[in-house]
Amino acid sequence: MIGVYDASRQLNVASIIYLGLFALQHRGQESCGISVQDGDKVITHKDIGLVVDNFDSEILARLKGSHGIGHVRYAPHGCSGRENTQPIEVRYRDGMMALAHNGNLTNTVKLRREMADSGAVFIGDTDTELVLKRLCRYLAADATVLQAVMDTMQDIRGAYAIVATLPEMIVGFRDPHGLRPLCLGKYKDAYILASESCAFSSIGAEFIRDIRPGEIVIIDDRGLHSHQTPPAPDSKLCIFEYVYFARPDSYMDEASIRRAREEAGRILAQEHPVEADLVIGAPDSALTAAVGFARASGIPFGHGLIRSRYVARTFIQPTQEMRDAAVRLKFSVLRDEVENKRIVMVDDSIVRGTTTSVIVQMLKDAGATEVHMRISSPPVKFPCYYGIDTATANQLIASHMSEAEICRKIGADSLGYLSIEGLRKTPVGVCLGLCDACFTGNYFLMPEE
Ligand code: AMP
Ligand code: SF4
Repeated sequence: MIGVYDASRQLNVASIIYLGLFALQHRGQESCGISVQDGDKVITHKDIGLVVDNFDSEILARLKGSHGIGHVRYAPHGCSGRENTQPIEVRYRDGMMALAHNGNLTNTVKLRREMADSGAVFIGDTDTELVLKRLCRYLAADATVLQAVMDTMQDIRGAYAIVATLPEMIVGFRDPHGLRPLCLGKYKDAYILASESCAFSSIGAEFIRDIRPGEIVIIDDRGLHSHQTPPAPDSKLCIFEYVYFARPDSYMDEASIRRAREEAGRILAQEHPVEADLVIGAPDSALTAAVGFARASGIPFGHGLIRSRYVARTFIQPTQEMRDAAVRLKFSVLRDEVENKRIVMVDDSIVRGTTTSVIVQMLKDAGATEVHMRISSPPVKFPCYYGIDTATANQLIASHMSEAEICRKIGADSLGYLSIEGLRKTPVGVCLGLCDACFTGNYFLMPEE
């Protein structure tokens, strides 16, 4: 997710958003879109698929405006239709606006019911549309934009980082727990809001700071205005960002994702030592942890697996056969590297167990004599209600199997997970607290019916 406001009117805003979305593609491959503001009009282009496939120079040339927003969508299972692509635009009393959301509200059902009872109609089934309509309702009742955002934040619960474009400004706000990330950067005269700092590097922009939990920023011709709503007593940035989701070149809450992952690998090696000839990692997300494991254990690091760049997402597939086939398409083994060796195979997480089972089998087929799985996070035992699709409780292999059973099921010679204490010891940000509910079951907000 990204928002750009160019007070100088000299920059090509759509191109900046496009480059930013490119760098954020790992955050969602379902669909993508850009909305730019031209006076009180919004021009949007969005579609199912990847950024590279959906935009070309002609489309970008049509997207003329002084400010705008962009989004790559990571859809929860069963919520991926064309009608749910973002940004969502709407015509309201003072013109047009568009909004994009990262996260998941926990009071969607209640809010939708209340709004439907009072006559609201909806085009898609996302919680994003509820936020947009809520905002419009307050604006139509003469609230200032700041007041309308504050009132909307009072109505919604759960995880959200949101950017919106309106006739004379862009707005960004983050939920009081700071569950989903949002940060601020600057490129020439333009302020930029983005989910991850790697978007700034791709644009050549400078990172300024993270948006704080509960903070609202409004950016217009007069500059940046910040308003702090009361944040929750302890912040709850998603720890899974450090484990898997964010790019290793990003910084989140002042902590380097790369350092956190490498340290996770180091601690994992201390917690679960093993005799072996080679450490390899599942590309790309687990490579950094594998390097950490290799450095701490003294076992050489090598590239035993390569990843096809063209298989976007294997995680959500309707059947187990398709999921297995997709993992085989996604990874291939470098036989001459692993043959006749005892391998430590590092991955960042086991969710359903599909990836791990297939990789162990592929390594053994390629002549590895032993495969020791090491996972740089604790067992994922609980579903996420805050916007990361980690499958439903009964699909999570660790929710109903012990570590010994999982080890047998995936066909590994041994299996070791990083402990939750070990994960907390990694340099995962300076904030007061982190959400780790998918590992511990310590939910601080449950979905409301
Ligand atoms: P699974 O194959 O279901 O056990 O999923 C684990 C693999 O998917 C690991 O290799 C992770 O890198 C990756 N992964 C973990 N969590 C997610 C997620 N929320 N969305 C997409 N991929 C994920
Ligand atoms: Fe992140 Fe897990 Fe918390 Fe979801 S439950 S927000 S994936 S740490």
